[in-house]
Amino acid sequence: MSRFREFDLSPEILQGIQDLGFEEPSPIQAECIPYVIRGEDVIGQAQTGTGKTAAFGIPVLERIDPSINKVQSIILTPTRELAIQVSEELRKVGRSKQVKSLPIYGGQAIGRQIKALQQGVHVVIGTPGRLLDHLRRGTLNTEYVDIIVLDEADEMLDMGFIDDIETVLKFLPKQRQLLLFSATMPSGIRHLAQKYMRRPKYITVNRGEVTVPVIKQVYYRVLENFKIEALCRILDSEEVDLSIIFCRTKKGVDDLTESLQARGYLAGGLHGDLAQQQRDRVMNAFRKGEIELLIATDVAARGIDVGNISHVINFDIPQDVESYVHRIGRTGRAGRTGVALTLVTPRELKQLRTIEQETGAELRAKELPTLEEVAV
Ligand code: ADP
Ligand code: MG
Repeated sequence: MSRFREFDLSPEILQGIQDLGFEEPSPIQAECIPYVIRGEDVIGQAQTGTGKTAAFGIPVLERIDPSINKVQSIILTPTRELAIQVSEELRKVGRSKQVKSLPIYGGQAIGRQIKALQQGVHVVIGTPGRLLDHLRRGTLNTEYVDIIVLDEADEMLDMGFIDDIETVLKFLPKQRQLLLFSATMPSGIRHLAQKYMRRPKYITVNRGEVTVPVIKQVYYRVLENFKIEALCRILDSEEVDLSIIFCRTKKGVDDLTESLQARGYLAGGLHGDLAQQQRDRVMNAFRKGEIELLIATDVAARGIDVGNISHVINFDIPQDVESYVHRIGRTGRAGRTGVALTLVTPRELKQLRTIEQETGAELRAKELPTLEEVAV
């Protein structure tokens, strides 16, 4: 707790941080918190898993006045799952201070969200589309909003949310503090910052983090028709705690989930065509460990932060380097060691080399475990 005490934080928020079990601020938190508390616009750039949520979450909660029963901060996230996750983290930190946070996202009945908003909440965490829906209907009062956060901004841009984000910003008060957090800084984000931020403090943390993910990266050469068999051998020989397995398509997710379930694995599928209820069910089961293998598409898995993900497995090699980086960032959270395994068919070797070159990482080739090794 020592260094969190050096910030200008109230006892209630310090209590919330303690409840969360954070002992020391991560570097991005240490750098960002003082500026955000002072009301400055901040761009925070740091790798996945470095604690960006709390870097804005802690000072935002500090700035909320719980005696005013109005929305005072709006946080935009790329996916429903992430909205829920951020909301849960804020709920914990803000509990002693009695700050009310509410996630709003597409796929959930809008009537329920409208009721919840009417009861009065302080912080709304939402996906751009659904936020916009509420703003247009006038069911989200923005009069008291003075801090806006764009979380995982690069992912939101990747997903094509730029127009929605700009429209949301137009609905919100002009006098406000804008915070932007992102793992990478593509030109789209720099433009956004130039257009909407006032002399932002640009904080980037690349060296010496305590929470840099430690990820062992390995690949296996496999034949297309042998992929499921190969995956099962790997799963049986590795000490897998929880694992996310990535497929290229929704159909790929369904097929692989079925095959794995048929072979007795605790597997669940996650992709955008599933009903929201089903997605929530799968995520909850995964968090609780009732499902050990989460089979997902890139989009469905964006931003997910579940502790204990020991392995990220690329059943299908990612289409581009950004996707590779985002995928493997799901493991090795908060400084724990993780393993990233990629199955590579002969015609995908070129893609593998591109990933190696552009990430600067060396992926180690490993032989598939033999049937004897698996049988142990
Ligand atoms: P990012 O948004 O940078 O990818 P998250 O905010 O999701 O990272 O945090 C990654 C993980 O690290 C989460 O499980 C979070 O609870 C944990 N974490 C964040 N800050 C700290 C801290 N100061 N001490 C310990 N764990 C932390
Ligand atoms: Mg994040």
